[in-house]
Amino acid sequence: MENYIKLEKILKDNNKIKYIYQVSENLKKYFYPVDFEIEYDENIEQVPNSILAVPFVCNILPIIWITNATLEITELDKSFYESIDQFKKGYINMYPTISFKGKIKVDKSIVNHYENNGKSICFFSGGVDATSTLITHIKEEPLTVTLWGADIKTNNVEGWNRVKEFIIQNTPNIKNKFIKSEFRTIINESNLNKKIEKYVTENWWHGFQHGIGLIGHVAPICYIHKITKVYIPSTFTKNDVGVTCASDPSIDNYVRFGNSKVYHDGYEFSRQDKINRICDYNKTTNNKLKLRVCYMTDKGNNCNECEKCIRTIMAIKANGENPSEYGFLPDYNKIKYILENKCYFNNIILPLWKNILEQFNKNKNSLENDEDVKWFFSIDFEKINKRYLRLYKRIGRFIKRKIGGK
Ligand SMILES: [Zn+2]
Repeated sequence: MENYIKLEKILKDNNKIKYIYQVSENLKKYFYPVDFEIEYDENIEQVPNSILAVPFVCNILPIIWITNATLEITELDKSFYESIDQFKKGYINMYPTISFKGKIKVDKSIVNHYENNGKSICFFSGGVDATSTLITHIKEEPLTVTLWGADIKTNNVEGWNRVKEFIIQNTPNIKNKFIKSEFRTIINESNLNKKIEKYVTENWWHGFQHGIGLIGHVAPICYIHKITKVYIPSTFTKNDVGVTCASDPSIDNYVRFGNSKVYHDGYEFSRQDKINRICDYNKTTNNKLKLRVCYMTDKGNNCNECEKCIRTIMAIKANGENPSEYGFLPDYNKIKYILENKCYFNNIILPLWKNILEQFNKNKNSLENDEDVKWFFSIDFEKINKRYLRLYKRIGRFIKRKIGGK
């Protein structure tokens, strides 16, 4: 029997959309039986179904491709429909060991036209990448868009409220849009991870869903506000080798809907460049943008102890700024201890740390006398890695002995 996913109906009620869809028997293991609902912070009833279908299709497409299924849709925006084969190429090139097949059957592809009003949308988490993108386009009076249901689960009300409050307080004079979506809740990521684990090291969310999955959500907002530019901040840079991630210029830059186009933004900047831009912006304007970077806590604030928090603290310090003014509460003795005893600098984070050290050396005059961080000049990442691996092996041998002895 042919595998299929059929979007049967889109229910609209004031600010909410609910997708009614059918999934063929063999594909049911990739979904949870929960409603796929999206809640905007404004009325969306005027938005045509061909645009409202975009968020659904964006999140379903990768499943269609890897299971060689058919996606059946009554109405879909023409420019989005025509862009699918373009951004699919990005996936094909990124994962040569996987075959991306599948079909899309659209009854009517519909032209949606709106004039450019010069404004833009920035996806915004409050992190380094997003804040740098916001600064780049600040003159376009961008709307920021933040999704509840991506990193913060939709049942975590307290965590979300903190994120929302942080963003509103931290972006004065900027209009913020918030979207609540079940786009992750409906998908059985663990079964999809099992399906792909033979071929790739990436997980489903990071490697396949999260780029276009997020992007699709703004199609209705672009239609209502006649916004033609959508910026999605880059995490990686063109210098990162061997990184695969569903949010990539080879995918994002080819996504279109209505008169809107997506731009993967900031790819030319390293993480330290972005931090420097944020620090420069804060130094030269009255704005004091703070950062929210932590992925270790679901409370919506920075834990100040995970590798990412520490890395950001040290990068701000490298610029000569005070991390306490950027949303952190650093304890430098603790940071030194964690770096030397609990961190392993893999291929992805090692270059980032080396950039920080380079920036430290640029500011050597002031930082070598800074009691808090002067120890950082003599840090030896390779030596720490070796020590970490030795310890890791010792623990391995210990466990083996314990198990073997039973
Ligand atoms: Zn943290």
